[in-house]
Amino acid sequence: MRRAVAPSVWNLSDFNKCVVYMRAVFLLSSEVAVIGGGSSGLFTALDLSLRGYTVSLFDRNMIGSGTSGRFHGLLHSGARYAVTDPQAAAECQRESAILARIAPHAVEKTGGLFVSLSRTDSEYGERLRKSLSSLGIRFSTLDGNATLSIEPNLSRNVIESVEVDDGVLRAQPFLYSVAISCILNGVSIHPFSELKDARRERGRVEELTFVNTRTAQRMSFRPWAVVNAAGPWVAQVSKKFGIRMSILPAAGIMAVVPRRLSFRVINRMRQPSDGDIVLPYGGSSIAGTTASVLRSPDRFSIRRDDLQLLLEETSEMLPSIRELGFTRSYASVRPLIGTGNNSARAGRLSTRDFHVSGPDESGLSNYACVAGGKMTTSRLAGERAADAVDSMSGTRHRSLTAGRKLFNPAGTAGTKLLSSDIPEHDSLSSVLSMASGGTDAETAVNYLMLSYILRKSGARK
Ligand SMILES: Cc1cc2nc3c(=O)[nH]c(=O)nc-3n(C[C@H](O)[C@H](O)[C@H](O)COP(=O)(O)OP(=O)(O)OC[C@H]3O[C@@H](n4cnc5c(N)ncnc54)[C@H](O)[C@@H]3O)c2cc1C
Repeated sequence: MRRAVAPSVWNLSDFNKCVVYMRAVFLLSSEVAVIGGGSSGLFTALDLSLRGYTVSLFDRNMIGSGTSGRFHGLLHSGARYAVTDPQAAAECQRESAILARIAPHAVEKTGGLFVSLSRTDSEYGERLRKSLSSLGIRFSTLDGNATLSIEPNLSRNVIESVEVDDGVLRAQPFLYSVAISCILNGVSIHPFSELKDARRERGRVEELTFVNTRTAQRMSFRPWAVVNAAGPWVAQVSKKFGIRMSILPAAGIMAVVPRRLSFRVINRMRQPSDGDIVLPYGGSSIAGTTASVLRSPDRFSIRRDDLQLLLEETSEMLPSIRELGFTRSYASVRPLIGTGNNSARAGRLSTRDFHVSGPDESGLSNYACVAGGKMTTSRLAGERAADAVDSMSGTRHRSLTAGRKLFNPAGTAGTKLLSSDIPEHDSLSSVLSMASGGTDAETAVNYLMLSYILRKSGARK
């Protein structure tokens, strides 16, 4: 194990030294399997590797091919959920500051506005300000004229706005940076490896069977511990371990407007609802989102009616959306933690917080699960999942992910690492085809990062 427990050993009694040594040896032979290469799984893997565990991460597809590569892009200041979900809001506030520090290359500190277009909106604004104050989330209030002077494309009907510290998180550079940081810390990444089966014996997971989705080859893996981080598929994966989970898959659609219409993230001043937010994303804007409860995370389509609803609602805030229209749309699914209620409204009412469970809930002594939450809070979700693994070994390591900068492709060392060993046949067209359909406009740097991950994947240290 790279990061040994050794430094603290020298101050301990002989007996304690022996216990610590035994634990270190135990960890050496302990390999943790993380199922799912979205932001939750990646941060779990990174956190565990920094604690000294040997980690293998498996995804049935490519890193970020689930919800994480198709999210809206909001780095939450916490304001969006301040009224309805204060715990998630407080976590977002802390975590967005951490992500801006550890991944500056993937964050645009745009700021955000909650805009009021009616008396009802302004009434909600009162509740919003109270909640923001009690959570200690920074804000300021602007009247209509001041709002229009900083965001001239907004509707002339703006009455007032609340300015907050929202930002934009770019999905691909962010996820690929976490993945490369994982690789640099010894995590073995296995894309295109779908978990098909799990063998349990005497209250433990003994063996996992994966199938390579490209070659149909089977691979078995005997983990010391397992973390299920399969996002909206978390219940399907937990079923393979004989565990029933109640989650609510809720789909959301987003649509791209071919112009950047605002400097800041524009939110409607009302309780989170359909079509209430537009993000500036590079040279475009992304309108979103909806929340409809599904039977299965794999069965949904983007309906015309939903796109029309997004157009109607978001153009109330930014009228030029009506003329410009949408150039493309995409969708993804969130695993809301079950309310026991499958109504459409439940998709909006469920908490946006994440949930981590360990052996106590599963009845399996080496199984943990992390589900739900936001991309903004996924570092914290990974930390809590790593705590759950620590508790299996009776150890308590400190999480290091909040204080470590992620791999940054922009630095000289980053560029050098990425451009090493590039196959000659790569071309811009493959850049575009590989990354199409996701949240980001494709860039050569994203492609180089992806290419590096693929070159290093499956390689064990
Ligand atoms: C519409 C929408 C908009 C959102 N917008 C925002 C936003 O603006 N800001 C924000 O902070 N958060 C947002 N979120 C939430 C955020 O996207 C997620 O919380 C975050 O991406 C974490 O995802 P995850 O890692 O849990 O799941 P995923 O990214 O879905 O990862 C799960 C992975 O598991 C893999 N997998 C599944 N089954 C198997 C199997 N059998 N074997 C191996 N691998 C498997 C999948 O391929 C997938 O890659 C949004 C969510 C939705 C749905």
